[in-house]
Amino acid sequence: MSQTTVKKRILLSPPHMSGIEMHYINEAIETNWIAPLGPNVDAFEREIAEIVGVNGAVAVSSGTAAIHLALLLLGVQKGDLVFCSSLTFVASANPILYQGAIPIFIDSEPETWNMSPVALEAAFRQAAVSGKFPKAVIIVNLYGQSAKMDELVSICNQYNVPIIEDAAESLGSLYKGKASGIFGEFGIYSFNGNKIITTSGGGMLISNNVEALNKVRFLATQAKDAAPYYQHSRLGFNYRMSNILAGIGRGQLKVLHERVKARRAVFKTYQEELADISAIAFMPELQQTFSNRWLTALTINEEAAGLSAAELLRILEAENIEARHIWKPLHLQPLFEQCQYYQHNWSENISEKLFQTGICLPSGSNMTRDDQMRVIRCIRNSLGTG
Ligand SMILES: *Cc1c(COP(=O)(O)O)cnc(C)c1O
Repeated sequence: MSQTTVKKRILLSPPHMSGIEMHYINEAIETNWIAPLGPNVDAFEREIAEIVGVNGAVAVSSGTAAIHLALLLLGVQKGDLVFCSSLTFVASANPILYQGAIPIFIDSEPETWNMSPVALEAAFRQAAVSGKFPKAVIIVNLYGQSAKMDELVSICNQYNVPIIEDAAESLGSLYKGKASGIFGEFGIYSFNGNKIITTSGGGMLISNNVEALNKVRFLATQAKDAAPYYQHSRLGFNYRMSNILAGIGRGQLKVLHERVKARRAVFKTYQEELADISAIAFMPELQQTFSNRWLTALTINEEAAGLSAAELLRILEAENIEARHIWKPLHLQPLFEQCQYYQHNWSENISEKLFQTGICLPSGSNMTRDDQMRVIRCIRNSLGTG
């Protein structure tokens, strides 16, 4: 029998507790304020709103729930159209289907990997021809990098269609000095276990429209009418965050700034240590933006490298290193087979190219330098530049 020692697994993006969470959790337990809602929830909402600079926030059970609530508030119903980034996690678009609405997917552009203003404009021109406009546009900020919000906002304003900014991956990032997530009618963050800060599971809906947020609170707690008994005139949801989890969120928010610094340092180390390999190109950071570098993403030129992104991923996995493909574009998903897609321009299909050539490397804010060097050595060895 061969004696192989299994190397310690290096994870893509594990949770990273600060220690401060226990204070808020204990407080909730000592006061027996486990549920419903409670002071941690109120405080977590206030703290997020203040940090990103919006009028209000509603803490919910997931980022997906936050997107669903935003669509409800914008009146998206069966048969309505919603434009959405194609290069993203499926949760960006699933709530469109929850409403029985129809997603139309928009390609990326190469400078941010996010929604292409050129493709968005093309989709709107077609909408104008057919006379059927979308009810909302969902714009995603991939891996912490903000989309080209000025250009995208300007196009959506021209057609008077509201934006939902899916900033699930970009809490702590900036666009022209302002927090990523605040550029639409609604913005959403996720506190899923793998995100830059986590509540184990949870999300936040933000907006400057306080009246809309109050409606969200109503819809997210089973839409109970103001009556002395349980009376309901509208379809509601059970989407609120618990007081315990909001306590974790408050403890995490205290170290958001440090987490961003750590993720950016991880990115910088990869970039410096792999700088001489011309077959590798790192995800760009658009001028006047500041990415939290949630995940370090890069593309591999297969011809120059002598191996594909998929092959490199297999080699990393054999070394017990968890790396991932870039999101598979939603217009290529069997679930969305029937959906329309607007590519960047007639000759360039950016999201498909990024999917074929891109990978995400382990990027945890708690990854040790030794672990990161193990990933780097593995990449260098597999590209024959060890
Ligand atoms: C994580 C994520 C979501 C969903 O958030 P959950 O809290 O997991 O529901 C939505 N959009 C993007 C881009 C994400 O990365």
